Amino acid sequence: MDKIKFSNWPIGGKKEIELLTEVVESGKWWRMNGDKVLTFEKKFAEYHNSKYCLGVANGTLALELALAALDIQAGDEIIVPAFTFISTFSAPINCDAIPVPVDVDEDTFCIDPTAIENAITEKTKAIIPVHMAGQMCDMDAIFKISKKYNLKIIEDAAHAHGAKWRGFPPGSFSDIAIFSFQNGKIMTCGEGGALITNNKRIYEKLCLLHGVGRPLYDKGYNHLVLGTNARMNEFQAAVLLAQLERLQEMNKLREKNAKFLDSKLGEIEGIKVQKVNPKAKINTHYMYMFYFDSREFNGITRDEFVDLLNSKGIPAFVAYPVVCNTRFFKEGNFRGHIKDNSYIDVSKLKNSEKISKEVVWLPHYVLLSGQECLEAVVASIENIKKGRIEV
Ligand SMILES: *Cc1c(COP(=O)(O)O)cnc(C)c1O
Repeated sequence: MDKIKFSNWPIGGKKEIELLTEVVESGKWWRMNGDKVLTFEKKFAEYHNSKYCLGVANGTLALELALAALDIQAGDEIIVPAFTFISTFSAPINCDAIPVPVDVDEDTFCIDPTAIENAITEKTKAIIPVHMAGQMCDMDAIFKISKKYNLKIIEDAAHAHGAKWRGFPPGSFSDIAIFSFQNGKIMTCGEGGALITNNKRIYEKLCLLHGVGRPLYDKGYNHLVLGTNARMNEFQAAVLLAQLERLQEMNKLREKNAKFLDSKLGEIEGIKVQKVNPKAKINTHYMYMFYFDSREFNGITRDEFVDLLNSKGIPAFVAYPVVCNTRFFKEGNFRGHIKDNSYIDVSKLKNSEKISKEVVWLPHYVLLSGQECLEAVVASIENIKKGRIEV
């Protein structure tokens, strides 16, 4: 089989160039005198049926700002999934709060509501569900828990732009939802982030926090609260305005192609695809994820399997490590933000460990590629299984 050509990512076109040129020529490069960030915020909020949106520099800072806006204090416990990208876990630490990792569901890879409830203590203040790979978590169950124990919810929707739980987008069942527009995400401006909320007071607090403590458009030095600078600039927003126009169509295409791969890969012994909860109505498929069972593939390891796919020109990666197994966490040097790492009971994180050891993912642009690419993915996996593509 010859190497096949998958879709590029990121994808930019005339619209990005046109809007970027407008910004360059206008001489208005930051949000304080331009209108691109504001326009993008309005459109992105509307797209998610939310009242307010604030554009920021990236998704990691969005998480930190969300915690600060909800008045998270030193020593507060924040429940997070053990299987996620590092930022979900490091953001609480950078706010002097304690991330308490709980297990995810073995099949959907999303945070397990029962595990959340079991981890709640008097110090618990908030939950950060992560809509893993674009599939929304069980927001009905999480919302119920948040009401019962009076907890805040910050949705980490870094993978889930335009996703829906039943009919509801991120932000519907939470205080704040955050997004990332980092280079690999399903809409991007290289680096970027956003927060959405329906609460005016929270929105105003976010504006202060992200703009060194000053009200938006303040012309004096009215630093009202301790903040940071996390402002989005007009170039980022220009690109995002163009990206947003393509989001819905791309989400549909990914959904269609993910279904095709599900039907084909689901038949291969030794491959088990991420299960979709039928209530997660729109799944954006930031990552196409599946378990790889080495025993069904003549004992080749998961890493070798990924290398073999890569050698055929197929982009593929191994799953995130469980956060407490990363060197950063094991060394336990948190620069004084939190005390040590001894509070975590890894024996309760079995599903997360299994996923991080056995899962492989294909980036979302595989699902934006032509039918011949999808068929090549299926054929390559079948050939590896038959020993026709060797280590
Ligand atoms: C990408 C990502 C983030 C952080 O976003 P950046 O824009 O890269 O800072 C946070 N959470 C999850 C789950 C992510 O995948």
